[in-house]
Amino acid sequence: MMTSPTDSPETLLEALLSTIEKKIVPLTAAGVSSGSKLFGAAILRKSDLSAVTVATNNEQASPLLHGEINCIQQFFSPPDGTASSQPPRPTTKDCVFVATHEPCSLCLSGITWSGFDNFYYLFTYEDSRDRFGIPYDIQILQEVFRVRAVDDVHERDENLARRPLYNSRNKFFAAKSFAVLVDEISGGEEEKRKWRGEIERVKRLYDGLSETYQEGKSQGVESASVWK
Ligand SMILES: [Zn+2]
Repeated sequence: MMTSPTDSPETLLEALLSTIEKKIVPLTAAGVSSGSKLFGAAILRKSDLSAVTVATNNEQASPLLHGEINCIQQFFSPPDGTASSQPPRPTTKDCVFVATHEPCSLCLSGITWSGFDNFYYLFTYEDSRDRFGIPYDIQILQEVFRVRAVDDVHERDENLARRPLYNSRNKFFAAKSFAVLVDEISGGEEEKRKWRGEIERVKRLYDGLSETYQEGKSQGVESASVWK
């Protein structure tokens, strides 16, 4: 039986990390210096993990242009120039979706509506809040979508707080952080440690980008986003 490169967590991690480092980070560096957030995304072919579309946040233009949404929009846009010279766009089911940061409620829906059956992310919601000073993914999911269960007694606060913010495996998609991919590696602890180090190295590429974004925010750099 033919195996897909997506079957191997190591192959997948290597492609995802290299896409972020070589393709997304340079785009994002330009974006943050003009006031956009540092969230980026890419769409890769499952067959060879080559990038079809790469994008970064453009909240300067609109609060809806998150990295993921921008990426999806570009994926579905007709290519420039002569269409015949472009390779045909794969279907979303044949693609891997990668987000630098765990997708917010808007982007979870965008990914779902577009028909991707997976996504992978480097930073978690907690990272976005604690490392980047951007708490809105968690706050919007809690305030807009989290409804207290009503049985004979109201759901207690601590039970409510323990509920996951969304279904990471559902009928539409399976979502995994890069850290979860490392746990799936069949090699020993040394191999996993190597990958965790590699993930941390790529995460650190965002430290400088975050400083640039936060500096711009404190200096009142123009952005269409209300929640900065
Ligand atoms: Zn988003």
